[in-house]
Amino acid sequence: MMNDLSEQDLLSYRGEWMVFWRDKVLVDDNGALPQGAWSQLTSLHHYAAQVQSLPPLEQTDTPPPALPVLDIGAEHVDIQGWQWVSLRQILTGATAFHYKEYSRAWQYVHFLRTHRYCGQCGGHTETISWEMAVQCRQCRHRAYPRVSPCIIVAIYRDDEILLARGVRHKDPQMYSTLAGFVESGETLEQALHREVFEEVGIRIKNEEYFESQAWPFPHSLMVGYIAEYAGGEINIDEREIVDAHWFNIQDLPKIPPTMSVAGRLINAVVARHRS
Ligand SMILES: [Zn+2]
Repeated sequence: MMNDLSEQDLLSYRGEWMVFWRDKVLVDDNGALPQGAWSQLTSLHHYAAQVQSLPPLEQTDTPPPALPVLDIGAEHVDIQGWQWVSLRQILTGATAFHYKEYSRAWQYVHFLRTHRYCGQCGGHTETISWEMAVQCRQCRHRAYPRVSPCIIVAIYRDDEILLARGVRHKDPQMYSTLAGFVESGETLEQALHREVFEEVGIRIKNEEYFESQAWPFPHSLMVGYIAEYAGGEINIDEREIVDAHWFNIQDLPKIPPTMSVAGRLINAVVARHRS
């Protein structure tokens, strides 16, 4: 359930805030998120375009407080004593709990920014209070945050693992697992076989589900698999892949951190082979 925060809530709140400007997050000089009562954040408050609270994802006996999310939008803002850092930086080193909360906060902000108008009639939308959605004031068409399923797979062949460098990877040293979006009408498994064949020209078998992860850049749901090589020679699609190789698990290149499912998939293949 979504709530606009009341003045009273804001005054008594003692937890963390997520404040977004463009695709950046506000932190203090120690890299910590703003924390405390609204009155202590007065220097921020007149910038607020949107203040919403996100209830915790996990229901426990003592649930943590809802996370207030404040979106400043796209205006250039400099606030003394504070700095803007990337969401990626915030997520690196976050606990599993906070990773989910912060990821969702960004996806929600991104959703609101891109759904101010109705896709059906062009009218203005407004948030509704009982679920994460916006509704058109004119035609009542309702829109929900977009979630884009994406398969990601670690492929092994004896004591080797197939890793690739994608065209969008910023770090030229880093190799990772293959990944690709699920297309309309496809199952996850069909997407898995299609993407692997399109990107590197090989066939796989014995695919097993590993785990999934929300990946907020901007709204992917990564569905991780481990699969075994079944045949074919590496033949890369140069529109997607710069380089792909079989690497011996004893001699891996630089790989993604375990914050990402890619890093955890690679580690899982290595651990299995060693055991
Ligand atoms: Zn409409």
